[in-house]
Amino acid sequence: MKKPVTAGTNVDNNNTKPSEKVEPDHIISADWIIPMTQVDHWLEKYAIVLSGSQIVDLIPQSEISSQYPEINHTCLSGQVLMPGLINAHCHGAMNLLRGLSDDLPLKQWLEQEIWPVEGQFVDDSFIYQGTQHAIAELLRSGTTCFQDMYFIPEQIARAVQETGIRASIGMVVMDMKTNWTNNAQDCIDQGLSVFDQYKHSSLLSFNFAPHAPYTVAKNTLEKLVMLSNELNLPVQIHAHETRDEIESFLNTHSIRPMTMMKEIGMLSPLLNAVHMTQLNETEIEWLAESGSHVIHCPQSNMKLASGTCPVTKLINQGVNVAIGTDGAASNNDLDMIDEMRSASLLAKLSSEKPTSLTAYQTLFAATAGGAKALGLQNQIGTLEKGKAADIISINLNTIETQPVYNPVSQIVYAASRNQVSHVWVNGKLLLEKGNLKTLNSDTILQQAQQWRDRIVNR
Ligand SMILES: [Zn+2]
Repeated sequence: MKKPVTAGTNVDNNNTKPSEKVEPDHIISADWIIPMTQVDHWLEKYAIVLSGSQIVDLIPQSEISSQYPEINHTCLSGQVLMPGLINAHCHGAMNLLRGLSDDLPLKQWLEQEIWPVEGQFVDDSFIYQGTQHAIAELLRSGTTCFQDMYFIPEQIARAVQETGIRASIGMVVMDMKTNWTNNAQDCIDQGLSVFDQYKHSSLLSFNFAPHAPYTVAKNTLEKLVMLSNELNLPVQIHAHETRDEIESFLNTHSIRPMTMMKEIGMLSPLLNAVHMTQLNETEIEWLAESGSHVIHCPQSNMKLASGTCPVTKLINQGVNVAIGTDGAASNNDLDMIDEMRSASLLAKLSSEKPTSLTAYQTLFAATAGGAKALGLQNQIGTLEKGKAADIISINLNTIETQPVYNPVSQIVYAASRNQVSHVWVNGKLLLEKGNLKTLNSDTILQQAQQWRDRIVNR
């Protein structure tokens, strides 16, 4: 079970930026390392060797002094190192709407509560400050990469670049007029201009993010399929989220949303289908045959009583499943550790099988599975030679997570986000002993209170 990793991944990905430094310059050691390269496999008393932004080796701690005697060494006793968590679906700046409206059905919640407030308040500073707030929460809970689906991507990109987290920016497309755009073409044009500006960033990747089949017309979706194939960018879309969505689409179009998506060529390895709580057997086969990815948001689905994504069936058919928190307005947090536990427990309950979504499968979905869905699997998602140094450490030396028979079990079934200690993205330390290094918590709290006052007094 604790076999050493024979390091070596051939990295062939344009997104991977070569490190400026060629010599190893930092070693991080811990009691356990979970590389996520083999099922139920971890290393004990190992160390990760970094060179700038990249992982260059994994070695037993006993070899550090002979192989790398002079190198800066961070020793994390009682801790576990693993790839940073990947939140494959959220709406970052919605952190500023956390707890504004709860306990309603999706349609009513969106149309009567959320959209009017967004209409009144979303602007550059709402997005920038809300995204900063989200990034602070993401880093503090061990997330090193998030897929964001929200308005004004230049402000999201700005917050990401300044803080050093990694993000996949969804270029949101909606037919309706918003504070940001007049129509779908406007969304596409503005999204692509931000993509052009940041496409060489080592922290940012992009995808198209049409909101849903019921808010974006078929011809717009067809255009996005064409563009995504042309630019080799994923498409992320909310789909089959609730029974109401399916019924009203059937009433208007006489087919289910996924039939339309299949007809226009949307089902492909570039598709990230978010939610998918309403799936029949044929649709599960379509997802599997096409290589589409499903983004599972269990807490949002439970809170809005949307339904249950059949994760066990999807995985058994070979569909890659990733995990997302959805926005803090419908969750109400961006806590991927808690989300993993919900995903695993819900899969067991809904399938009536305790063997469903095991601890390792869950951790895989929240790391390597997320990387694969976002097209970043050659860059992040596992701890291997050649991958980016996106690493987190979790302190297991606590009453709540001792004794450790299996560190994977402790992370998924027992740990909390408060135990996340250190976070590195691209080799840069962004969280140290639970403290943010590139964001000021006091400023973020102050900003949140100011937005709260404005929104309450609207
Ligand atoms: Zn969402």
